[in-house]
Amino acid sequence: MIPYAVAAAPQDAAPAAAAPAPYLSVVVPIYNEEESIPHLYAQLTASLERLGKPYEILAVDDGSRDGSFALLRDLAASDPRLRVVRFRRNFGQTAGFAAGFDRARGEWVVTIDADLQNDPDDIPALLAKAESGFDVVSGWRARRQDPFLNRRLPSLIANRVISWATGVHLHDYGCSLKVYRAEVVKNIDLYGELHRFIPAIASWQGVAVTELPVNHAARKYGKSKYGIGRTTRVLLDLITVRFLLSYSTRPMQVFGGIGLLSGALGSVLLLYLGYVRLIIGRSIGDRPLLLLAVLMVLIGVQFLALGLLGELITRVYYEGRNRPIYVVREELNGG
Ligand code: UDP
Ligand code: MG
Repeated sequence: MIPYAVAAAPQDAAPAAAAPAPYLSVVVPIYNEEESIPHLYAQLTASLERLGKPYEILAVDDGSRDGSFALLRDLAASDPRLRVVRFRRNFGQTAGFAAGFDRARGEWVVTIDADLQNDPDDIPALLAKAESGFDVVSGWRARRQDPFLNRRLPSLIANRVISWATGVHLHDYGCSLKVYRAEVVKNIDLYGELHRFIPAIASWQGVAVTELPVNHAARKYGKSKYGIGRTTRVLLDLITVRFLLSYSTRPMQVFGGIGLLSGALGSVLLLYLGYVRLIIGRSIGDRPLLLLAVLMVLIGVQFLALGLLGELITRVYYEGRNRPIYVVREELNGG
């Protein structure tokens, strides 16, 4: 509380966060993309300058082991609109997006890959679409330049399944080029590899989601960070998302329901067997039905217990929200 100390430290000491909020924040996750970065920066800056609105670029270096960070540091030294976050290690693309979303100051947030597969020139059209009344505009790589068998085919199936399971129908969940209204992404807790499902998770908030065809190029430099193993991870994540989405399907409802049904059927069978043994007086020791009845009662009890456990864990989940999914090493231009 020393007034003159504040007066003695004019603008240059003010943190970047005090600058007027930009219209647009562009979030770029980067993992070992040194050859692409100079091109990406040039193309992105050119497109954004043509747009003519104040912007910031949030480059998140996800623990790159090549020269990516050094390049970003040099670029950031001469461009205050380029904010750089450097992770301590590789935390994954989802964490990269999350770090960008946490720091974004713009009204709109654009996500884009660093590998030049997305075209920054698509950003104005996506923004125009969003401004016409949408909260999320997803890019759709209508003419995708990736191998068919191990990339496009699994992705085709995944998009169908995800659309069907979440009720949010998009052709291309996997396209990184997307525009979000800032408050939409700020209200989402990301972890694991859930970034692909942001439109579906966001739909839970009741937002308007649409899509727009965008350009797509083959990867020129470096190599893809993912293989075919991603397919199973995406499908498993889908089950989580499906579960999180329908907040009426609580663990006790699902598992408890199965437990009750199984337990009740088992009990009826046991009653019947008891009747056969005690009233009719016939031996039941060699009947497979006995095994089934006992099994069903046991399964019933286990599922009820599982439902209860799930219920408790859900509570813990909703209370303990502030666990970070990444650790920052350094930040440039206010991160
Ligand atoms: N990426 C990242 N962390 C990772 C993996 C990828 O930040 O652990 C970045 C990567 O540098 C690129 C984007 O995420 O900018 C998409 O990755 P990639 O191009 O390998 O995915 P694909 O286009 O093959 O689906
Ligand atoms: Mg790529």
